[in-house]
Amino acid sequence: MALPAFTFDPHPSPVDADERARLLVDPGFGRVFTDHMVTIRYSSAAGWHDARIGPREPLTIDTATAVLHYAQEIFEGLKAYRLADGGTALFRPERNAARFRDSARRMAMAELPEALFLESIRRLVQTEREWIPTLDGGALYLRPFMIASEVFLGVKPSAEYIFAVIASSVGAYFKGGAPAVSLWISENYTRAAPGGTGAAKCGGNYASSLVAQAEAIRQGCDQVLFLDAAERRWIEELGGMNIFFVFDDGMLATPPLTGTILPGITRDSILRIARDLGFEVREEPYAIDQCRADAESGRLREAFACGTAAVVTPIGRMLSRQGDFTIGGGGPGQTTQRLRQTLVGIQTGVAEDRHGWLERLD
Ligand SMILES: *Cc1c(COP(=O)(O)O)cnc(C)c1O
Repeated sequence: MALPAFTFDPHPSPVDADERARLLVDPGFGRVFTDHMVTIRYSSAAGWHDARIGPREPLTIDTATAVLHYAQEIFEGLKAYRLADGGTALFRPERNAARFRDSARRMAMAELPEALFLESIRRLVQTEREWIPTLDGGALYLRPFMIASEVFLGVKPSAEYIFAVIASSVGAYFKGGAPAVSLWISENYTRAAPGGTGAAKCGGNYASSLVAQAEAIRQGCDQVLFLDAAERRWIEELGGMNIFFVFDDGMLATPPLTGTILPGITRDSILRIARDLGFEVREEPYAIDQCRADAESGRLREAFACGTAAVVTPIGRMLSRQGDFTIGGGGPGQTTQRLRQTLVGIQTGVAEDRHGWLERLD
């Protein structure tokens, strides 16, 4: 089937250049939005249609719209970067397009063709390129998402969907470089069970993780670390980031993708960069008790979390009802910083892009 052509309806009163410059001084994360958005509609009768870039505006939906009741919703997150030479680039956007399809399949939603996903992203970035901050660590964060839009309270896959992409100017997730964060090891809650939706990027996973995150904050920690649902023993990931460990013999490890962990694109990139830099890297299960023992013996030198939003975040300390332990010196480790620098270097066009990950837009 031919892909629908996009229409463009420019915003009648976009934010002016002075106001935009003021907003981009310190945009924070997820607070500053651009003027336009993408929408594409789907119905089982008409397929994908009405592809449009128009003013960013509220979606008007019926109160019986399926997503409001049964949470048939998925999303993605990727960034457009300002390169050192002034150009604009995306980082491995085809991976987001493929993962969006995988998420749709798991949630019994219509699968958006990858070419249409990518065209949406490229067009929106080209329309909003003035919104990419020039500050260090800044980027245009793109949020594609899709909701079940059929007006029907029966429990079944929706016959209609709305796909949309909005864009947000963001600064560095952590100002002044990433400080080491602390993790609360959740014993009361799990994020994903075998056969569940852990590998799909769906809003429901986040909804169910918020109570655990709130518990982590109450315990004085920054983030929650989830263990596997079956044995409550194996380290899986954080609420929205994957996790890596660095050992004293130079080995790196991360939990394997067994269906309960979100297959992060940052995770995949770090695996390859680490191998390129000569590290031995293993995808293997790591038990929380072993982690504690290794931290105490000094065998575990560093740990870090990774994802598009915060890139690479050092982990300094872990805490549970059994007490707390410090990893390495408790601050950002050398290998963590080296991996972060290499990844950011590729994303901003200053390090060699040997895998062809960067897609230049202009
Ligand atoms: C999005 C996400 C990640 C990180 O994925 P990236 O592609 O690296 O941004 C990790 N864990 C969860 C639960 C996520 O939703």
